Amino acid sequence: MTNTVTSPIVVLGRGIAGLSAAIALGSAGYPVHLIGRPPATPGGLQLSPNGFRALSSLGLDKAILDKADRLNAVVIKALSTNRHLTEIIHDPKHLHAAVSRQDVMDCLVAKAETLSCIRFTDTEIHTVQLGTEKATLVSVDGDIFSADEVIGADGPKGLACAALTGQNSMPPQPAYRAMRAEIEAAKLPTAFRRPLTLLMLGDGCHMVSYPIKGGSHINLVFCTSADKVTIGWQQRCFSLNPLLSNLTDPAISWANTPLYPAEVLPVWRRAHLTLLGDSAHVMPPHLAQGAGQTFVDAACLKVLLAEKPLAQALDQMAATRSIEVQAITKKAAASGQIMRLGGIASQARNIFIDIAGPHFMNSWLDEVWQAEN
Ligand SMILES: Cc1cc2nc3c(=O)[nH]c(=O)nc-3n(C[C@H](O)[C@H](O)[C@H](O)COP(=O)(O)OP(=O)(O)OC[C@H]3O[C@@H](n4cnc5c(N)ncnc54)[C@H](O)[C@@H]3O)c2cc1C
Repeated sequence: MTNTVTSPIVVLGRGIAGLSAAIALGSAGYPVHLIGRPPATPGGLQLSPNGFRALSSLGLDKAILDKADRLNAVVIKALSTNRHLTEIIHDPKHLHAAVSRQDVMDCLVAKAETLSCIRFTDTEIHTVQLGTEKATLVSVDGDIFSADEVIGADGPKGLACAALTGQNSMPPQPAYRAMRAEIEAAKLPTAFRRPLTLLMLGDGCHMVSYPIKGGSHINLVFCTSADKVTIGWQQRCFSLNPLLSNLTDPAISWANTPLYPAEVLPVWRRAHLTLLGDSAHVMPPHLAQGAGQTFVDAACLKVLLAEKPLAQALDQMAATRSIEVQAITKKAAASGQIMRLGGIASQARNIFIDIAGPHFMNSWLDEVWQAEN
């Protein structure tokens, strides 16, 4: 039998963006219906000072920091030879940390559950329709959810983005992949266990690693083009560097994640639908800013809800954030292009980073990490 549920506000997507938006709305006293399945959340996230500032506005910084591993530096090496290129030492006054995604989700869910006006429904939505009076969502089970406002937080290229832009076709499979693995720290050389981000730049590929879960595990992200991820890719990519030889173990399970090209939608709000998080800004992971910027979206909304009625707060969040997030997204895309240089260009890049030294890298990244937004 089909059920019809009417709510003032529906949030579509139960990832970082959906939960953060629900917390912002729920903290302002709005009744929220959060719809989506709990996502699979392997691996970790790095968070930098701008992300922590946003988490602080949402009342989440202490809970997340409690579960996080502080990071002291970014060390950059050549992937094939393990040669040290440069390093950026973080100022201890500035909060850089890594945390498991599951811990982040647990903190968000725990906070949302303290807000009695947030209700959860565990289902998948099949259709999003924008009417003149209301928005309607239909689940795969045929249930109908009708709302005055829908927050689309269903990730990149999801139904909310399609409903807002009117582009319903499936996006082409992206040319780049992130191969993600979480490995027990004891199984890797000590170089991986230090409290820092290790960035290894290769020929058309790069690897990022950092400790999570109190240092008991290492999160690894290896980015390369999709056509290189064929049988035996680990052997081809890791066997040159003795530090990486353990990663050729076929028992390691790598999650193959598509990396969509960077995109910030120019318009985040139409009729009764407002986008937030990756559904509004597809952020390549190369500056580790996607979730951080999602927290900034939600923190911005929370501040505006304290000053304005709902529709105006959503209007202004969409207008403000769609501009603010552009510079960081462009920088993340440019960083990705530099990281995936191949052949001679990759060697020239490594020589340049070596010669330019920490000051250059620090100024490139500090602007992102310390940004007020
Ligand atoms: C390899 C990699 C590394 C990253 N590292 C970092 C990092 O270190 N730091 C950082 O800040 N960011 C990082 N990011 C970015 C970060 O993961 C994302 O920005 C963040 O997860 C976005 O959250 P979201 O909720 O917007 O989207 P998603 O995580 O995609 O969540 C969307 C949710 O919507 C649900 N959903 C989708 N469609 C439907 C539907 N039809 N019905 C119901 N539910 C639906 C999904 O199941 C999911 O739960 C990284 C990303 C990648 C790919």
